[in-house]
Amino acid sequence: MIKDIATPVRTQEILKKYGFALKKSLGQNFLIDPNILRNIVSHAGLTKDSAAIEIGPGIGALTEHLARSAGKVVSFEIDQRLLPVLADTLSPYDNVRIVHSDILEADVDAVFKQELADFKDVMVVANLPYYVTTPILLKLLHDRLPIRGMVVMMQKEVADRITAKPGTKEYGSLSIAIQYYMDAEVAMTVPRTVFMPPPNVDSAVIKLTRRTEPIVTVKDEDFLFLVSRGSFVQRRKTILNNLQTSLPEGKAHKEDILKALEETGINPTRRGETLSIQEFGALADALYETFYELWRGGNK
Ligand code: SAM
Repeated sequence: MIKDIATPVRTQEILKKYGFALKKSLGQNFLIDPNILRNIVSHAGLTKDSAAIEIGPGIGALTEHLARSAGKVVSFEIDQRLLPVLADTLSPYDNVRIVHSDILEADVDAVFKQELADFKDVMVVANLPYYVTTPILLKLLHDRLPIRGMVVMMQKEVADRITAKPGTKEYGSLSIAIQYYMDAEVAMTVPRTVFMPPPNVDSAVIKLTRRTEPIVTVKDEDFLFLVSRGSFVQRRKTILNNLQTSLPEGKAHKEDILKALEETGINPTRRGETLSIQEFGALADALYETFYELWRGGNK
């Protein structure tokens, strides 16, 4: 039986052996509890016919659990200093490929085609670097990779916003940007004590599952996100007010906004946080003719 990387003693040993100083700026809070890792991996439902994509292997704590459960693991790590460490700690596993890259700069689609073409079932599983959680998720979703879903650890506050339902104070444009593509739920909350060093915030693991049917079909997805973001600019204001200030030349087009709200049966005095994604979809389509050219002219 191979010793787990993710115990306090073994992690200390590895860090000491390589004289590795953790970088806070890269979100380097490593997991030191094998039970948490087993739990994360079990939520991903992997078999030897599946592959996993990981962001930020660190010293390989989660990577080795993925390597044991999946057919293949491709893991993106930004910190060059970790490459020799990973070559050592992951040497018992022949199904792991480490890509030295900033995930935000990486051509994940090309890596996917090159490394994972044989796998029909692919999951993203990661203990994310918290400082870039949202850009990473949005990039992976916008790239439209053929993944079944994601099981990812992040700051609890962000997890709550991503999984929030309409009518709650956490619900906002991030909930919509993610739930448009994926069904989202909190799989577990995680205490600070399972990390080295413990982060300053609480953590949670969320599970995202690709929708079999789109939650709503719209003329233009980016325009839907523009409308949803614009509806939350000032949470206490009405949807009419927010859209007037956030849409291009919105004030001059108040009547058009009112007409779109009326057409879609949305009371102009409601607040953005009460609208479902389906309502945002209908509203975006109703605003599309008036605003699309104005927006595209200014922003594209
Ligand atoms: N998976 C390990 C664990 O659970 O112990 C480490 C997780 S640690 C929270 C985040 C990891 O992401 C670090 O190894 C860090 O160097 C890496 N990282 C930070 N920013 C990154 C980026 N933009 N692209 C790829 N990896 C990144």
